[in-house]
Amino acid sequence: MEALPDWGDGTRAVRAGLPEPRKYEPTLPGPVFAAHFHLPGEPTGPYTYGRDENPTWTLLERAVGELEAPGDDAVETVVFASGMAAISAVLFSQLKAGDAVVLPADGYQALPLVRAQLEAYGIEVRTAPTGGDAQLAVLDGARLLWLETPSNPGLDVCDIRRMVAAARGAGALVAVDNTLATPLGQRPLALGADFSVASDTKGMTGHGDILLGHVACRDPGLAAGVRHWRKIVGAIPGPMEAWLAHRSLATLQLRIDRQCGNALALARALSVRDDVTGLRYPGLPDDPSHETASGQMRRFGSVVSFILDGREHAERFLDALRLVDDATSFGGVRSTAERRGRWGGDAVPPGFIRFSVGAEDPDDLVADVLRALDAAGERH
Ligand SMILES: *Cc1c(COP(=O)(O)O)cnc(C)c1O
Repeated sequence: MEALPDWGDGTRAVRAGLPEPRKYEPTLPGPVFAAHFHLPGEPTGPYTYGRDENPTWTLLERAVGELEAPGDDAVETVVFASGMAAISAVLFSQLKAGDAVVLPADGYQALPLVRAQLEAYGIEVRTAPTGGDAQLAVLDGARLLWLETPSNPGLDVCDIRRMVAAARGAGALVAVDNTLATPLGQRPLALGADFSVASDTKGMTGHGDILLGHVACRDPGLAAGVRHWRKIVGAIPGPMEAWLAHRSLATLQLRIDRQCGNALALARALSVRDDVTGLRYPGLPDDPSHETASGQMRRFGSVVSFILDGREHAERFLDALRLVDDATSFGGVRSTAERRGRWGGDAVPPGFIRFSVGAEDPDDLVADVLRALDAAGERH
């Protein structure tokens, strides 16, 4: 079905990637479990061997592409077994020995592991923080600029259009890790990026039950490189996960709107607390990221971060929550929170909390958080 560019986000989400209706066929065909397909004669596609292509991926890739770039038939999407598989596919398919890449210094915590591998392959890795468009200063001569905005977990933001313009001038490609925003919050391809990359483990699928990732891009040559990488590495999603993801996309707009609304309500409630410092949410009008975020984001995401007074205080708070699970990851319909410093990878203080806001009733959620803060603040 042709996706019309003027559809609203909710309409697009419920229809994304559906095949033309056929009598006696389901709306969204079920997962196709196949290692190989009947293939007499010349071995030409679309479906030959299960590591190369699968009809369930095809529908999901179409759906994600319609959300990433509504009305743009040229966009190509490649789905992966996880967000890291998608990230690695772009980095390792586009970079070779002697190239330089600019990564965020404050991005996803597995990026330092990727850095070590890139360097082992003879690729020069430069880093700079996301805030203040600081990566511009180390762009000269780079082949690829990697952005993560808002950054995870610090929630700093950079100006994607400005970074793209500078990268064009320097002859560099631009990739944006769009995990936190989802395509309903931000459309990197429309802002000029070459690649929009995401972990769909988070808000895109939103139930905390599958790992998945994708890469979307408009240039057929770049897309072919990413697709080739998936084929040789074999970082492919299972058909069941791909189908579950497609099913989950139908509620994307409902979930994201509810979660973003809840995140703003929570941030507002936290902003007047004396026991909370370093509060960050790009949707708060006085957040340092707000102005830049407003110029490129349509929704501000479901993650709020803040600092409590040390490790014990943070742990008492997490223990006292009833509606919020102490767990990592974010973007799910059930709120989770964690003391981010327990992983050791991020440059955050011991009392730093990353809070992933779910789809609970806002009054219940805010009340639970305020009650837990009160309990955690009592003398022990
Ligand atoms: C979770 C996450 C990833 C990694 O995704 P996986 O699906 O866990 O492999 C990458 N980038 C960001 C911003 C993330 O939050």
